[in-house]
Amino acid sequence: MATAYITHPDCKEHNPSRHHPESPARLAAISDRLISAGLFDLLHHYEAPEVAQSDLLRVHSLAHVERICSVDTTKELVWLDGDTVMGPGSLKAALRAAGAGVLATELVLSGEVERAFCAVRPPGHHAESDQAMGFCLFNNIAVAAASALTRAEVERVAILDFDVHHGNGTEAIFRDEPGVLFCSSFQHPFYPHSDLVTDRPNCVHAPLAAGSDGRVFREVIEAHWRPALEAFEPQIIFISAGFDGHWEEELAELQLTEADYRWATELACLIADRYADGRVVSMLEGGYALDALGRCVAEHIRVLLG
Ligand SMILES: [Zn+2]
Repeated sequence: MATAYITHPDCKEHNPSRHHPESPARLAAISDRLISAGLFDLLHHYEAPEVAQSDLLRVHSLAHVERICSVDTTKELVWLDGDTVMGPGSLKAALRAAGAGVLATELVLSGEVERAFCAVRPPGHHAESDQAMGFCLFNNIAVAAASALTRAEVERVAILDFDVHHGNGTEAIFRDEPGVLFCSSFQHPFYPHSDLVTDRPNCVHAPLAAGSDGRVFREVIEAHWRPALEAFEPQIIFISAGFDGHWEEELAELQLTEADYRWATELACLIADRYADGRVVSMLEGGYALDALGRCVAEHIRVLLG
C-alpha cells in the first residue's frame, strides 16, 4: 500500500529540557529503526508544512492559538503546566506537527496514498480547545480529523487512540460531534484522571487496570471498539498512535508488546479496508522508551504498508 511518512527537522527543535521524557531523540529512534528494518525506503516521504491558523481554529479557540504563538521563549523555557513546556523551537515544531496531519489527510483523501504516518512531536491528544496540557500544545489528531470533515464526501471519521493515557483533549473537542467516533483505550485510573462518566454514544472507552497485558487489551478492544466501529462505518480512520503502554515504559504500568500494537494496527486497517477504502492517517502520540518505541513504530508501519 502506498504509505506516506511525514515529518520535519523542526520537530526535533522542540527541546523540553534534558530530563523530559518527550525528547527529540524519539524521532531519531523511529527513523533509525525504520532504516535498519528496511522499511524506510518503502515509504513515500513528505515534509510537514506549518499548519494554517484556519486549520487550528476548527478545534482550538483563537485565544489559545494566540497564547501559544506569543509565548516568549527568548530568555528561558516557559512551563505552561507541570509537564508542558515551550522553548525556542517549540512553536515551529507544534505548527509542523499539526500541519503534518492536515497534509496526511489531504494525501489520503485525494488518493495519492492510502495510508500515512506522521512522525511528529510535540504530541497532541491531551490539548483541549482552550488549553495546552500533558506535553501537548495543539491537538494534532483533532486538527487533522476536523480537516477531513470539511470535505463534502466525508461525513464520518473514526479516531482510534491506543496511547496509555486517555485522550481527554480529543474527547472534549469531539464529544458533541456526531461525525466523529472516538474510541480510546488507556490505563485507568491514571493521568489525566478523566471523568469517564459519559453518555455520549460517540465516545467509546476501553479502560485498562494497571498491569493489564495484551490479552486484556485485545479483549476490551474487541468488546468495545469493534462493534462501535462496525455500526459507525467510518469513511477514514485516524490513529492517535501512542506506544507508551509497552512493558518497557517506566512512565506507565501496562504490559503491551510490539505484537499487541501490530494487532491493533491490523484491526484499524481491517476496518479501514472494509468501510473506508483503506484510508488510515496515523499520528505519533506517546512512547518514551526509545528502543521499544522504534520497534513498535516499525511493526505499526509494517502493517500500514500491508
Ligand atoms: Zn501517553
